Amino acid sequence: MTTTSYRAVQASKRGRLELVERELTAPPPGKVRIRVEACGVCHSDAGTIEGQFPIDWPRVPGHELVGRIDAIGSGVQRWAVGQRVGVGFLAGSCGYCDFCRNGDLVNCANQEYTGIHHDGGYAEVMIAKASGLVSIPDDLSSVAAAPLLCAGLTTFNALRNSPAKAGDLVAVLGIGGLGHLGVQYARHMGFEVVAISRGVDTAELAKKLGAHHYIDSSASDPAAALQALGGAKVILITASGGKTVAETFMGLRPGGVSIVLGVGPESIETSSSDLIFGNRKLEGSLTGDPATADATLRFSALSGVSAMIETVSLDQAANAYAKMMAGKARFRIVLTMDRSE
Ligand SMILES: [Zn+2]
Ligand SMILES: [Zn+2]
Repeated sequence: MTTTSYRAVQASKRGRLELVERELTAPPPGKVRIRVEACGVCHSDAGTIEGQFPIDWPRVPGHELVGRIDAIGSGVQRWAVGQRVGVGFLAGSCGYCDFCRNGDLVNCANQEYTGIHHDGGYAEVMIAKASGLVSIPDDLSSVAAAPLLCAGLTTFNALRNSPAKAGDLVAVLGIGGLGHLGVQYARHMGFEVVAISRGVDTAELAKKLGAHHYIDSSASDPAAALQALGGAKVILITASGGKTVAETFMGLRPGGVSIVLGVGPESIETSSSDLIFGNRKLEGSLTGDPATADATLRFSALSGVSAMIETVSLDQAANAYAKMMAGKARFRIVLTMDRSE
């Protein structure tokens, strides 16, 4: 690498990732340039690589990255060269749309998605909007922090904004990239935690992550099992699939809410009477704003919540992505910028 170029892994067309050399550019106004140190591989990267979003090829995927600012565009406040920062899925709010004016930065009408509308973190260098940056606590390594910017923030934000209070029964459905963090956050937030997954093999891991109870949804009716525990105040749905959501819905106690985090094409079927009699709610939750991302990282450092990670060098990104898509990552793969020469 010369000082005027950097390595990046780009999706050149649908389903194809390739390692390329790119020219270094200066950050435009309102943006910073980051020397990336780590980037998590997330299921939502399929949005770019499989072209689930309209993509202007070639595009560098990746929206769980941590690095150091090495150049700052004009008009940027708060951030300094040398500072370690993170970027998640939401690339940064505009500050002037109706939603921003009302304090809802997540739903900013002019929000871009990192690695989808512009190049993301599968690269040694990335240009990022200052309003989307996240502070990285000194006691979290870049590799440890990266997956917390998407999988961590998504589960932390949903639980933190849920109606559950300390001691309430909270279920986490699916023990994967999101769920294995969700169980830990739920435990450290003081809930009585139920992990729900298929098979007996996950039971031991779920307990190790902090679950008080484990429900094997392939062996028993998960809604009935939740009711036997008193009914859940919150069910955090980290798995995808409408049937999965529906088969646990009646495990909610009256006034409870199922919060959907796992994206899938399947529709969710439930009856209006199941919603009405018991005031049950079904809602979605989209990641979180930068201040909540700061809190996610601080809370993780304070409580010891961490993602189970395997690291892979940037040039192996295509293999890492394929492994994650095959459901074989345990539980999060993080790309590092080390050279495997
Ligand atoms: Zn993600
Ligand atoms: Zn806005």
